[in-house]
Parts: sequence; structure tokens; C-alpha cells
Amino acid sequence: MDRKIKEALAWLPGLETLDATTARAAATPDRYSLQYALECRHRSARYARLAMIGDPGILSRAAMEAIDHQIRGAGLGLIVHAHHAHRVSQHLHGLVMSSTDDLTEADEAVDAGWQTTTILPPGTTESVRTPRGRRVVICPALLPGRPAVCNTCGLCDPSRAEPEIVGYPMLGHRRRPG
Ligand code: SF4
Repeated sequence: MDRKIKEALAWLPGLETLDATTARAAATPDRYSLQYALECRHRSARYARLAMIGDPGILSRAAMEAIDHQIRGAGLGLIVHAHHAHRVSQHLHGLVMSSTDDLTEADEAVDAGWQTTTILPPGTTESVRTPRGRRVVICPALLPGRPAVCNTCGLCDPSRAEPEIVGYPMLGHRRRPG
């Protein structure tokens, strides 16, 4: 595992196991490549969700563009977030959603031209507005009785023009969106 990633994840329980798994993957790179994942995807797959160790902001724009190109070239949408990307990962503008911590930050990100996600209080089930009057669409996977998953939703694909802001009610012990 890359030294910078190990340092960033030093707090993580089970890091050694993760490191060993990463080393095994590195020994058989063909089975752990994006190309392999795309070739083996389920036929119902509509989106790839980029979930990686740490923050996508660590990637160069060229690397992120290559991933974006490969996934979209395979006919899939791409779901990807980077924390405070509008502030700290500006080189990825247009390629990732900027995830923010509250409605004021969400306004700030949209003002800077970013597609954005934000955190909402637990139990929020109705659409809310930011201090600047923007509507926040609630992640449908986090609404009661709504079996949506990312693969059938796609709101967090940064290539979409709308919605500008997707809100995640804080989860507590509930599952994350799929
Ligand atoms: S299900 Fe939620 S997290 Fe997944 S794409 Fe839709 S809004 Fe985003």
C-alpha cells in the first residue's frame, strides 16, 4: 500500500489485514483492474461507484479523467464524491461531486460551480432549502420505504446538470446507500 495512504489511514482498525489484501491484489493485478471489473460486471449494472481508500482528491486530473473515460466508455455512469473538493481538489472540477458538511458549505460549493452533496439532520424526509434558497434533493436510498440504490438512482453522477445538491440525512446505525 502506498505510504501516503497508509499514513492517512493509520487510525483504521484492521489496517494490517487491509495492507495484506492490497499486497495480494498487487500480485495479481489483472484480477483487480478496473478493466477486469468492467468486463465482469453484472448485466444490470448502470453505474460504477468509485469507492476508494481515502479521498479521490489524491488522484491527478489525468488519472481521474482516465477512470471517467474508461467507465463511461463502457456505457456506465460514474458516481464519485470527494470531500470539500471545491476547496481542496479543484483540479477535479466536473469529474467528482464535492461533498460538504452542511447547507452553507453546499451553497459555497454550488456558487463555485460544483455538483454537491451535503449532510442533513437525522430523520429528514422532506426536501429542504439552503440559506441561499437552493433545493436539496434527499438521497432516495435514505428515505423510509424507498428501496433505491445508486445503480437505479444516479443522482450523484457529477456529469448530471441536476440536482445541484443531494442531501444525506445522518445515518446513525442505518445502512449506507447502495
Ligand atoms: S442512491 Fe443516494 S448516494 Fe446513490 S446516487 Fe442516489 S442520491 Fe447518490
